[in-house]
Amino acid sequence: MTEVRLSGIRKRYGPVEIIPGLDLEIEDGEFVVLVGPSGCGKSTLLRMIAGLEDISAGELKIAGRRVNELSPRERNIAMVFQNYALYPHMNVRENMAFSLRLAKADKATIDQQIARASAILGLDPLLDRLPRQLSGGQRQRVAMGRAIVRDPAVFLFDEPLSNLDAKLRVQMRAEIRGLHDRLKATTIYVTHDQIEAMTMADKIVVMRDGRIEQAGRPLDLYSNPANLFVATFLGSPEMNLLPGTRRESGIDLGEDGVVSIGATLPATAPSQITIGVRPHDLTIVPADDSAFTATVALVEHTGAETVLTCTLASGRKVCVIGPAQISAGKGERIGLAFNTSHLRCFDTQTGRALAA
Ligand code: ADP
Ligand code: MG
Repeated sequence: MTEVRLSGIRKRYGPVEIIPGLDLEIEDGEFVVLVGPSGCGKSTLLRMIAGLEDISAGELKIAGRRVNELSPRERNIAMVFQNYALYPHMNVRENMAFSLRLAKADKATIDQQIARASAILGLDPLLDRLPRQLSGGQRQRVAMGRAIVRDPAVFLFDEPLSNLDAKLRVQMRAEIRGLHDRLKATTIYVTHDQIEAMTMADKIVVMRDGRIEQAGRPLDLYSNPANLFVATFLGSPEMNLLPGTRRESGIDLGEDGVVSIGATLPATAPSQITIGVRPHDLTIVPADDSAFTATVALVEHTGAETVLTCTLASGRKVCVIGPAQISAGKGERIGLAFNTSHLRCFDTQTGRALAA
């Protein structure tokens, strides 16, 4: 059982505290994605787990054992980096064998482990090639092969797909997730890409400024973001945010109208409330039938659907996603209907979500 436990983990660089005290529990076999904007401390946290960075305070346990003072090798983890870090003068086989040789594994074990990793990753035809004779995706696969041969209890990935083009990224995303489903090793995966997080994770951990904003299953975070940061970080185009004032009938958005929220807010709810509505939860209706009107400012066809940027009476913009075939054109006045069951309300001042 290789669960990973972080308790009160802190990281200081001189006087600057990058991670001010973080708790996280990762279950055995879980695929956890740490996601957040650049500079929020994802790599620092991963490197502390790997043993490549000192832990300033707090305790890190892997499989129930405190590992703060152990070297990377003693922690039984393997890390795959963004830049692959393959040895350019060694062929694929030698790249994979390297860490086993360092660990003084015997030849039979090395051969066996390479054969196993090679079979898992489909590397057999490439074993004698040098890294420069490989495509980006193949190099990435070799980097994973180097991790697999060590049979680690925990896999760590730091933005492993950032250097690949969009199409290959989608393919490798599925490969890494498929690999996990076969090996079932505990995995911690760092990315700034919310789509990677949504599609790959059993559990997403959204970070900002060295803190955890929210952790949970992808769809739970998407449907019930704990605060405005998570609400806008997950989902693209991002959730529309409309600040207003609480009334008996709904949320008063001033000259834009009053939005019925389909539920009664508790009497203790603050007066200043921001409505969050995803672009898919706004529907175009005839302007004359609607209390909520807008003017189409931009129409973008992605092929599968249409993305509309609309201007409300107040001048603020909302994004609406509709079907591929849509009649509304630029400059047209439209009505908007809110899917009230998917509306979210936030305390404008604190950014915290209110129970719906
Ligand atoms: P992320 O991986 O989320 O983009 P990092 O963990 O790389 O973020 O960095 C988090 C913060 O720590 C950043 O503000 C970065 O400048 C700072 N930082 C990282 N490494 C060092 C270092 N060796 N010395 C000082 N500050 C550092
Ligand atoms: Mg990083």
